[in-house]
Amino acid sequence: MTDPAPASTAGLLIRAAAVHTLVPGEPPRRAIAVTGGRITALAPAPDGLDALIGPDTEVVDAPGSTVLPAFDDTHTHLVLAAQSVHGVPVHRARDLTEFLGLIRERAARTPAGEWIHTTVNWQEALLTEQRMPTTAELDAATADHPVLVRRGAYNMVLNSAALRLAGITEATEAPPGGVIERDEHGRLTGRLVNRAVEPVERVLPRPTLAERIEGLRAASAAFAATGIGTVRDCLVPVEDLDVLDAARAEGALAVRVRALVSGFAARTPEQVDALLDRMDAWRAAGRDDDRLSLWGVKFGIDGGFEAGALEEPYQGQPCYHGRLLWEPVELLAAVDRVVGRGWRVGVHAWGDRGLRVLLDVFEQVVKRRPGLPPGTLVVEHGGLARPEQRARAIALGVPVTVQHPLLHDGALTQQRAWGEERTAALFPLREWLDEGALLTGGSDFPVGPYGAMVSVWGMTTRDTTAGVIGPEHAIGRAEAVALHTVNAARLTGESGVRGSLRPGAYADLTVWPLDPLDCPADALRELLPSRTVVNGRTVHHM
Ligand SMILES: [Zn+2]
Repeated sequence: MTDPAPASTAGLLIRAAAVHTLVPGEPPRRAIAVTGGRITALAPAPDGLDALIGPDTEVVDAPGSTVLPAFDDTHTHLVLAAQSVHGVPVHRARDLTEFLGLIRERAARTPAGEWIHTTVNWQEALLTEQRMPTTAELDAATADHPVLVRRGAYNMVLNSAALRLAGITEATEAPPGGVIERDEHGRLTGRLVNRAVEPVERVLPRPTLAERIEGLRAASAAFAATGIGTVRDCLVPVEDLDVLDAARAEGALAVRVRALVSGFAARTPEQVDALLDRMDAWRAAGRDDDRLSLWGVKFGIDGGFEAGALEEPYQGQPCYHGRLLWEPVELLAAVDRVVGRGWRVGVHAWGDRGLRVLLDVFEQVVKRRPGLPPGTLVVEHGGLARPEQRARAIALGVPVTVQHPLLHDGALTQQRAWGEERTAALFPLREWLDEGALLTGGSDFPVGPYGAMVSVWGMTTRDTTAGVIGPEHAIGRAEAVALHTVNAARLTGESGVRGSLRPGAYADLTVWPLDPLDCPADALRELLPSRTVVNGRTVHHM
């Protein structure tokens, strides 16, 4: 019989060029030790923790590497990513020829009659032709399979076989709030927008639970491979909580998940209460843990690139100011119900009018409920934030989640709708930070690409698909890293255990071949971690 290893032995020990702990005032360390799911020790010398090496210690000698906390993506869509992770990878196409070629290639190895669907993280504005494919083009790629081309959640193009299965003909009327696009001769183009996608959802084959868990396994591993250790999923259908739970039980979640349940279908007080009943049941059953927990509810006050609510009209559309999705009094009632039952609320606001009206609502909530814990109300995006709105949000103590990748990929679309000046004014990060806001960083995948360093690169350079825009709003490297680590942990209320590397904190860390704080900007954009550790477990290793 052998003696049990002493409790002080490390499970994982990393020696590196620098361990940036992100603890204020602390110089870089050279060694870090992990036991179980926690950080147990740090040392200024590479060999400073060698006494903790036991027979079962994994020692990582990485003398040229840099260690940082694992990143949070504080506004993203893991559930959506999981549904499309095995789709035809049309996000890699540069033009429609490549796009359709990928579909043709998938069709060639898919049994006839089976659905073919695409990834959802692409933008037609970035294709050479700057448009979506048509039904005729999809029919030419395959007539033997129903084809669903999807962008995000609410934009689709179908081939004829898929239109037939969905029961959509030239005589079909669009539902309220939906668009069934037709050409100048009244013929279907195959494009369905917003609520018009619902008939398609109903006929799509339902993935099995096992398939959904596999999707989450692949999608969460892909997040981890870019240095992300925690995702705040900002649109989880309440019934999908059970799917996330099952994935957790199988160890399929490579990253921690903080879930915002979708409140988009909850319009009346009864509907909001029904949603909260299900969330309360989750909480009462003790189903939250450090891997998967319920953060709160998500609402949206306005549209996005082409429907964000603006004070001044859209470019070239003097009568169009975007869309508010709520009457302010109704949103106030909904938000008040949610916080009254002890849940947090994140509300999407994109245009300056959307943000102004949202802050009106938040001010009323705070007035009604003195003593509301800080961080209960959150602005998601706050894209076009004018000085007076920033001052109001900061005075209310409302955190703001920002997403440069969204601006990066959407800049051309946004310039067309809003013009260059308002597009360049999006995400004024320099001003927000100087004025004292709590900002956190994210991607808004599938609209923007996720990735730890692609976000840092974007926030520090303001580079986009339309070139560098609004460079005066750029922030520094350390600030950008903090938005995904220290600040992110404050947003989720986990500063005691996440966001910086300290003894006792969760062992969520990343190892980088270059130092992201001072490598060249071009290298930063493509920089991937050699290792991502979540809860002491290596979830990605190059
Ligand atoms: Zn989003």
